[in-house]
Amino acid sequence: MSSVRRLMTSMTNSLSLKHGLSLWCPQFAALNRIPRSSSIGFGNFPRSYVVASSAFANENREFVIVGGGNAAGYAARSFVEQGMADGKLCIVCKEAVAPYERPALTKAYLFPPDKKPARLPGFHTCVGSGGERQTADWYKENGIEMLYEDPVTGVDIEKQTLTTSSGKLLKYGSLIIATGCTAVRFPEKIGGNLSGVHYIRDVADADSLIQSLGRAQKVVVVGGGYIGMEVAAAAAGWKLDTTVIFPGSHLMPRLFTPSLAHRYEELYQQNGIKFMKGVAIENIEASSDGRVTAVKLQNGSRIEADTVIVGIGAKPAVSAFESVGLNNTVGGIQVDGHFRTNVPGVLAIGDVAAFPLKMYDRIARVEHVGHARQSGRHCVNALLSGKTDLYDYLPHFYSRVFEYEGSTRKVWWQFYGDNVGEPIEIGKFDPKIITFWIDSGKLKGVLLESGSPEEFELLPKLARSQPPVDKAKLQSASSVEEALQIAQSSLQV
Ligand SMILES: Cc1cc2nc3c(=O)[nH]c(=O)nc-3n(C[C@H](O)[C@H](O)[C@H](O)COP(=O)(O)OP(=O)(O)OC[C@H]3O[C@@H](n4cnc5c(N)ncnc54)[C@H](O)[C@@H]3O)c2cc1C
Repeated sequence: MSSVRRLMTSMTNSLSLKHGLSLWCPQFAALNRIPRSSSIGFGNFPRSYVVASSAFANENREFVIVGGGNAAGYAARSFVEQGMADGKLCIVCKEAVAPYERPALTKAYLFPPDKKPARLPGFHTCVGSGGERQTADWYKENGIEMLYEDPVTGVDIEKQTLTTSSGKLLKYGSLIIATGCTAVRFPEKIGGNLSGVHYIRDVADADSLIQSLGRAQKVVVVGGGYIGMEVAAAAAGWKLDTTVIFPGSHLMPRLFTPSLAHRYEELYQQNGIKFMKGVAIENIEASSDGRVTAVKLQNGSRIEADTVIVGIGAKPAVSAFESVGLNNTVGGIQVDGHFRTNVPGVLAIGDVAAFPLKMYDRIARVEHVGHARQSGRHCVNALLSGKTDLYDYLPHFYSRVFEYEGSTRKVWWQFYGDNVGEPIEIGKFDPKIITFWIDSGKLKGVLLESGSPEEFELLPKLARSQPPVDKAKLQSASSVEEALQIAQSSLQV
């Protein structure tokens, strides 16, 4: 069984936390191997961008995107580039703001107040990939109708209409579902909704957390995935007494090898962060005013806390779209290589889409910003220009922590490919380290910490080509640079 599959299985089986919740790195939900046979039939429906006869003000609502998040922002840009936005595109948002680069919320957004934290409008899409900063004005200037704070509550596929929570009825020609995910929460009965218990999915969540951090002393972070790691690093920046708890034996168990995780754990400890591993939560305790006071563990111990941040995964936001081809194996809304669902004229992109991961021949759902961006672009280009090439995504994950001014070490890792087979680790964490995954003599995945831009650029080429490598030679490399040279030379074989 591959490691990603194993990790998935352990996620499903584990719990580690009481009440069936697991502490895992959400994006890897996506990568479990689901045979193609599970796919639903996709009719060869004509691309439909029928002019809608709307029951609402805008008669030309040809295209509607539901969800104003990362994927929607990039999709909107493609509509503009194709000259098909002005007067034709409507985006229905649950949030009060225009689409933004969500990963910033647990990175620069959480910098301490004196370290120049990021704030909107600074990180609206598409700045994350070097594109234009699409503020609310950008949407206006490009003739895109934005409905804010009015989530879609239902869809009528026959009539091609959407209803929103304020009671609007919107007729669409083509519908793109881009509703992303919602954070998994602890049940109310164990204290999951107490004041001082935070989940981070949107800017309102992050603002609420910042309020708490401003008066916090003792922080408990629940979860050893990337959200937990990023939030813990942020709390250390605020100089707070921070403890990270998780059920596994090491950080980021779905991706990091124990050895690599150990290096990061040491760095976190040098920054004053404590770990409690292999533990499960019994409940979260509160004072009489309902504010969190402690986290009680199943082993009987109790960790005092005035702020608890929970990062235990996310689930696709599909409640309004139960009638559209939902995938029961990886969750989300199943689409084909052009992001079309089985319902003509309905498409899905980003975290919510369960799509064919062409290079590994399986259905996947990926909770990662790179996929959100690429899927938004691919879907719109296929829809509008008749592009026929199938989406061909290369899994890519990254994180950045301890980036604030004055931090003793900034951390930036990137991973490409599939973490299957035998891991080979080269280098010391200081100054950099690399892990290759070799399966059946081929390089399948690679994770690099603190690489140069040129080194990071090489990773997708390696993971995409999966070259045969001389394992013994790679193992004998005395530095990351030498190991990368060996891997690069295998590309030319
Ligand atoms: C805190 C955080 C940190 C992250 N860090 C990283 C990282 O370092 N690297 C990385 O690659 N990825 C990261 N991710 C993941 C990445 O942000 C997501 O993969 C990406 O945002 C997915 O884009 P999306 O458009 O599919 O969903 P989202 O960006 O989540 O957007 C979905 C939008 O739809 C809205 N919505 C939901 N339901 C409805 C409805 N019924 N009607 C209308 N609107 C609705 C939501 O409110 C939201 O605004 C992070 C995610 C979070 C939450």
